[in-house]
Amino acid sequence: MTALDDNIKKLTGYLERFRDTGIRNRIAGQDVAGSGGVFRTTSPVDKSVICDVAHGTADEVDKAAQAASDTFAGWRDMPALERKKILIKVAEGIEARAEEIALCECWDTGQTIKFMSKAALRGAENFRYFADQVVQARDGQHLQSPTLMNVTTRKSIGPVGVITPWNTPFMLSTWKIAPALAAGCTVVHKPAEASPLTARLLVEIAEEAGLPPGVLNTVNGFGEGAGKALCEHPKIKAIAFVGESSTGSLITKQGADTLKRNHLELGGKNPVIVFDDADLERALDAVIFMIFSINGERCTSSSRLLVQDTIRAEFEAKLVERVNNIKVGHPLDPSTEIGPLVTEEHFNKVTSYFDIAKEDGATIAAGGVTVGDEGYFVRPTVFTNANNKMRIAQEEIFGPVLTSIPFSTEEEALSLANDTDYGLTGYLWTNDLTRALRFTDALEAGMIWVNSENVRHLPTPFGGVKSSGIGRDGGDWSFEFYMEQKHIGFATGQHKITKLGVL
Ligand code: NAD
Repeated sequence: MTALDDNIKKLTGYLERFRDTGIRNRIAGQDVAGSGGVFRTTSPVDKSVICDVAHGTADEVDKAAQAASDTFAGWRDMPALERKKILIKVAEGIEARAEEIALCECWDTGQTIKFMSKAALRGAENFRYFADQVVQARDGQHLQSPTLMNVTTRKSIGPVGVITPWNTPFMLSTWKIAPALAAGCTVVHKPAEASPLTARLLVEIAEEAGLPPGVLNTVNGFGEGAGKALCEHPKIKAIAFVGESSTGSLITKQGADTLKRNHLELGGKNPVIVFDDADLERALDAVIFMIFSINGERCTSSSRLLVQDTIRAEFEAKLVERVNNIKVGHPLDPSTEIGPLVTEEHFNKVTSYFDIAKEDGATIAAGGVTVGDEGYFVRPTVFTNANNKMRIAQEEIFGPVLTSIPFSTEEEALSLANDTDYGLTGYLWTNDLTRALRFTDALEAGMIWVNSENVRHLPTPFGGVKSSGIGRDGGDWSFEFYMEQKHIGFATGQHKITKLGVL
């Protein structure tokens, strides 16, 4: 039996339980049907139906928000060490079911097992990391003034909504939900309609680990229904959102009447800038990894290659050779490097850029074709002879598609890098230290890596500028979002109080 056959057999076993019941919403520890009936989740590998999913609407969101509100005080006031123990048990539960999570994630989203096996474990890491922060989450500062001892402390903000997209949905959900729970908030999670499987596994694992029912609730449904209702719900105090920039704008509008606090992690059109003095072998590895891993469906992907004209021909030739060797195939085959795109709609969007590139006068140097007709497979694609004004250089394609643009000077590279609506990440390859300092200071991005691909370190701030988002999470920044700062001033003596109404 090949590794692929073995994985398919295991997956079939894991999915068996969903065949009859489908995926229900989970509210206050109970399985709840959707008042909108059901919708179906399908696999992008062969377009087959995986199972029915309860179609939650404003009714289920209301019940879930009520459950999150009812359980809030109990969870917030639970001794920190007890909360910590539960969150560590969630991490252990994720580790114990990592294979099931990874296989389900691949089948639901088209992501490859090569990358998703690690994503499940990254989810566990998120819980472990924030479990370790629980005890100090409330810590504040002591700020002495002449007449007062000023103390700051942090309090959990209340029940929060978490709205997640379909790319690496398990990892992204844990990234939001773990700090929210660690901060003492209760959660209503609305996973992406295209990838509901692993959100169900997460809430099960959390409850089995001892999370009190109602502290984490999952409502499946669509953005304009359940998602909108969550943003508008008065009992929900904040929305942690990951998704498209245009949806981020809607989230802000929808939350305006209830004065929601929003954290928005949105799209990107991230540059990787390669100067001719860089370690070009390593730069090539990183350029390829950052756009072709995770099917290119990655907000931090380096989808624009800015390459110095002195090395352009050689660098592009090596790039194309390597890209043509990338293995596209079944996501459960451990040797597959790129699986199918998540949905028909997304496949149509990504492939539409093959014609757009040609119309704009760019060259398709690699890929630009679909693979078979069973699922939503495309060859990894490189566009050359492009310029930064073209749509392929400005719009987020969110697939395994790279646009290569030449530059001659540092000033030009910086101007091209910043000439975009987005500002999530930037990657700089140079061995000139002073240039790296100058360039990173002026580059408009929330996160920059120099001579490195994206290596996430959980205590560091994650987020973007411009249309790539508002706010940061990671480390203590997550607590800034999920908690309220409170100031208390204690008089240290008999300072003068201005008297009114004294004759
Ligand atoms: P999307 O914006 O279409 O959907 C994301 C989520 O929002 C889904 O759960 C969806 O149902 C919900 N939603 C849609 N409309 C809504 C509304 N009006 N109110 C409330 N919720 C609504 O995004 P997607 O296509 O699922 O994901 C891909 C996008 O996510 C890309 O743009 C990508 O760059 C971005 N992304 C960003 C990050 C980051 O950290 N910056 C990480 C991953 C993905």
